[in-house]
Amino acid sequence: KIFHSLRPPTPLPPADEPLSLAHYATSLLRTSPTVTDLSSASFVIDAATGAVLTYAAFLRQTRSLSLALKRLYPSLSPNDVAFILCPASVHTPVLYFALMTLGVAVSPSNPLSSESELAHQIQLTKPKIAFATSQTAPKLSSSSPLHFPTILVDSPQFLSLLTESTILPAAEPSALGPRQSDTAAILYSSGTTGNVKGVRLSHRNMIALISGYYHNRHRHDPAQPDPHPVALMTVPLFHVFGFFMLVKAIAIGETLVLMQRFDFEGMLRAVEKYRVTYMPVSPPLIVGMVKSELTNKYDLSSLLVLGCGGAPLGKDVAEKFKEKFPDVDIIQGYGLTESGGGGTRMIDAEEMKNYGSAGRISENLEAKVVDPETGEALGPGQRGELWLRGPVIMKGYVGNDQATAETLDAEGWLKTGDLGYINSQGYLYIVDRLKELIKYKAYQVPPAELEALLQSNPKIADAAVIPYPDDDAGQIPMAFVVRKPGSQLTEAEVMDFVAKQVAPYKKIRRVAFVNSIPKSPAGKILRRELVQLAVSGPASKL
Ligand code: AMP
Repeated sequence: KIFHSLRPPTPLPPADEPLSLAHYATSLLRTSPTVTDLSSASFVIDAATGAVLTYAAFLRQTRSLSLALKRLYPSLSPNDVAFILCPASVHTPVLYFALMTLGVAVSPSNPLSSESELAHQIQLTKPKIAFATSQTAPKLSSSSPLHFPTILVDSPQFLSLLTESTILPAAEPSALGPRQSDTAAILYSSGTTGNVKGVRLSHRNMIALISGYYHNRHRHDPAQPDPHPVALMTVPLFHVFGFFMLVKAIAIGETLVLMQRFDFEGMLRAVEKYRVTYMPVSPPLIVGMVKSELTNKYDLSSLLVLGCGGAPLGKDVAEKFKEKFPDVDIIQGYGLTESGGGGTRMIDAEEMKNYGSAGRISENLEAKVVDPETGEALGPGQRGELWLRGPVIMKGYVGNDQATAETLDAEGWLKTGDLGYINSQGYLYIVDRLKELIKYKAYQVPPAELEALLQSNPKIADAAVIPYPDDDAGQIPMAFVVRKPGSQLTEAEVMDFVAKQVAPYKKIRRVAFVNSIPKSPAGKILRRELVQLAVSGPASKL
């Protein structure tokens, strides 16, 4: 009972050929019909500053930076980790590609991460080098006792590294390049349970993903030639969605518009100004476009497609969007950091009619739907946990063999922790999440992390955190708190206590005080019971 992709496999280079993701993507770019003249084609535009980088400049700067880094840090080797704490700018793609060319794994973190979040990530990945800005560097240095050089990407020194190769001998950084099994990126995810973990994605993982996107491109109207693709990144480059969208854009030769910090009206302005044709988005943005009147203020007529993923998109929201924007396609997709972002997606008009579905299994992948109780593989239409297998699936969690073994089985299946079914036409429907994860505006919020924080408060005896449904954000983190005897702790104090220690998207946004937290005999929090109670009953019942 294995569901195979209905799309033919796309070509992959021989697995044992040394090849970095950076080389793979730029070699596709050089033959991509989308770009005929690399020296005039715009690659990145920074919507905040208007700065533009052409494809030729991108390739030159990438080569220069990789040579310069090798000269400055000769011991940097494949699988060493570079920690990156930078808001998106025209330098970000250059940095990622220069590091990957050397085989150095990029590990980008959310620039809004708190010191304790950074300390945890650094502890996991043990970087050999870091890249930050003058704004983010102090937070980085005070968060960890580990020592590594930190380069500021907004410093004159960094800018000189982007151009110095003209004065260096024309040698390639490495004759062979990294092996495809080496790590290209370590991205952060809490997986099915517990704290944040480092997801190890190999060059091969991402090459397989990009091959699919390159060879099976969406066409808005197969009868008409699509205009030059101009993609606006509304999703962050440190998240798997933004990461692979960036690499895909380079492979195809798209023009990419970046926003240092997302704001809704800024996005609409950028669509009008740069004649954006495509946006990767998470569902809350589609909700925003349906509800907002601001969309009428701007000329959005260039927009052809939204690629939506990261969290479930309600069927009604998709339908309302189509009523308001009949000429814009919504391609829905499903994936995880642990699958390099791959999983299922829609490609053509026929598939896009299936609102509420997350599309069909992507090329090179197979899926199983497994009964969580019996472990039995189920057939079409039957609900169970979705498992995925294929070349995009992560190598494992860095330094956490136990979590890796719990998530990847011996046959290479990734247990996604998502509950759903695949119908007889091969469409995936995600109906619930078995795992602990909360998704606030498609950002990951691990309840275990917030629970540990709450339990460290001397006025709190016990706590549990659950996803509370919310129209705009999808879900918000809600805390159930048991006060210590005699404590007068208030809701505002609980929220404030957490807000001071976490990135803004992880804030607790709803609190209920209870007498006890329901737990299984083994001591596991009965989250479903709490969700039920939060949604349908007065919390005081507990
Ligand atoms: P992340 O690793 O941050 O990309 O989060 C992956 C998780 O987001 C998945 O395991 C799902 O729970 C959720 N997710 C992603 N895409 C979808 C989708 N199209 N529908 C429902 N849930 C989704």
